[in-house]
Amino acid sequence: MTEVQLNSLYQQLILEHYRKPKNRGKLEPYTEAVRMRNPTCGDDITLQIRVEDDRIVDARFYGEGCSISQASASMMTELLKGTTLEEALALSDRFTAMMHGDEEAAKDRSLRDLRALQGVSKFPVRIKCALLGFDALQEGVKKVRGEE
Ligand code: ZN
Repeated sequence: MTEVQLNSLYQQLILEHYRKPKNRGKLEPYTEAVRMRNPTCGDDITLQIRVEDDRIVDARFYGEGCSISQASASMMTELLKGTTLEEALALSDRFTAMMHGDEEAAKDRSLRDLRALQGVSKFPVRIKCALLGFDALQEGVKKVRGEE
């Protein structure tokens, strides 16, 4: 597959998640909720996670924002269900590394659909959009662990 084909495939995937986001809505009951805003773009996301025995059993998000922030949150919540807090943080680290240009991280298949966002790393102002959901996740894990 050429790079152009791959890029358009990734773009389609981003649009798909944007138009039909997974896990969008409110979670009841939830363990922690974290709201994150990105004023430069206008993104405003609230992530809710339900944690049982150190494991994220459910995750949802709501709010408004650009296609990148929404698609990223949708892709992220899909991967979070069933992961331990430790695994969720590892995923977050991996994705953050990819967004900062780490090519090894970009090859990591465990990122699944999130890999579609690797092209965004070339646009510094949009990186924050892609990371917004993960910023909320990191904050949420800290709260669950009582580190905040
Ligand atoms: Zn944005």
